[in-house]
Amino acid sequence: MNIYQAVTELVARAVAVQLITQEDSVYARNRILHLLKIDDFQEPEESGSEGGIPELLDFLVAHACEHKLIEDVFDQRDILSSQLMDCFIPLPSVINERFYAKFSRSPREATDYFYALSQHSNYIQTRQIDRNINYKAATEYGELDITINLSKPEKNPKDIAREKLMKSSNYPRCLLCVENEGYAGRAGHPARANHRLIRLRLGGEPWYFQYSPYVYYNEHCIVLAGEHRDMKIDRQTIERLLLFVDFMPHYFVGSNADLPIVGGSILSHDHYQGGRYEFAMAKATDEYRFSLRDFPLLESAIVKWPMSVIRLRGEHMADMVGAADHILAKWRAYSDMAAHIQAYTQGTPHNTITPIARKRGKMWELDLVLRNNRTTEEHPMGIFHPHEDVQHIKKENIGLIEVMGLAVLPARLESELKEVENFLLGREQRLAEYHLAWAEELARRYEGTVTPDNAEAIVRREVAAKFLRVLEDAGVFKRNEAGVAAFKRFIATLGTEES
Ligand SMILES: [Zn+2]
Repeated sequence: MNIYQAVTELVARAVAVQLITQEDSVYARNRILHLLKIDDFQEPEESGSEGGIPELLDFLVAHACEHKLIEDVFDQRDILSSQLMDCFIPLPSVINERFYAKFSRSPREATDYFYALSQHSNYIQTRQIDRNINYKAATEYGELDITINLSKPEKNPKDIAREKLMKSSNYPRCLLCVENEGYAGRAGHPARANHRLIRLRLGGEPWYFQYSPYVYYNEHCIVLAGEHRDMKIDRQTIERLLLFVDFMPHYFVGSNADLPIVGGSILSHDHYQGGRYEFAMAKATDEYRFSLRDFPLLESAIVKWPMSVIRLRGEHMADMVGAADHILAKWRAYSDMAAHIQAYTQGTPHNTITPIARKRGKMWELDLVLRNNRTTEEHPMGIFHPHEDVQHIKKENIGLIEVMGLAVLPARLESELKEVENFLLGREQRLAEYHLAWAEELARRYEGTVTPDNAEAIVRREVAAKFLRVLEDAGVFKRNEAGVAAFKRFIATLGTEES
């Protein structure tokens, strides 16, 4: 394939996926040529490649490296590749106009359009994401989702050294700021020339809608505040979550908690995550129903889930907001030392909630997951955080996505779990020290039954069992007699009548 063929093919692909129309193709080609510092063009006689947009981008970026237009380093390749795609993507105002024209017919049509756009524009790097290992595992709580995340960009020591050399910058202030829209990128900050955001209003404020570049589940979206301000769970949060699912009834939306350890990785920019996917938690059933005296029209229940979840269901938004706010206020101040729950230590708050909202026909549904981030000498990473014996699988924060039943596990596990299989099969292996106790326990439990055909399935199932343990560790009320009684003690403080 020569360079003219590659440019022609890329433009043809952009037309095929409706990023541009045939009418735009000469214009787009000329912009691509300009970025590649090529000032002539020869119409190729035959097509050069069967590859898709990512492969063609690779070819063009490699060409630019060979011709010394850019240095062959991660950030410069990323910047050029994103600029090349930007040649095919309309301005934000045009995208918003199209989105809302479709939205007036159906919200689903609008999100279908924007999701496809975000993928074709290579903003969502589907080729990398397809490398992830995904599977489901049946448990007593339904099917948990497991993802081994292999889609992180591959950076070498030279790339990382460049990032360290970069002088620190305050623009954009973080990865979630609106100022990323169209931002070229730099070492240590991803290229976003091909990034677009949908404008919306929630509770009288400007908010923005985009997809996650890492899509961990179908149509994984991010809803972010126009203002760069800290994550906060309060009455307005609940209201905004409900307003969002009213706006997009085919999506759920939830927020990470607003405290370290139990929150997500970004606490510094107020944002939510949602999508068109039903997690095991959403399918979990009511285990114990009760009514709140002040909100008699609502259905309230403890959900059958390894973490501690109160579910509210109702037809009136004001009731839902009022009840959730009431539960939040009670929980923030709640201590029960028999259950190791302490609301404050020296004025530092520990209790918060991970809230999730969805619409079921006319009914609103809110899941309030009770969280506590207190640490002790015995559990320096958190009492309600994965304990030491499961940290060889997962030691990161248990945020919104994990709470709902999807484990996002580190890339190292891809090769490490193969070694666990080898261990079980009695083959030569290089088992990591921290997996040894687990592998020995599995070897005892599965003695004489492990074969090359079932080893992978056994290890995968056992990883899911560990993830279930991770969720149980993060649950503030344990799923035993004492824990259930403690949960009911808290419920009783809400002003309830049993039903
Ligand atoms: Zn920000």
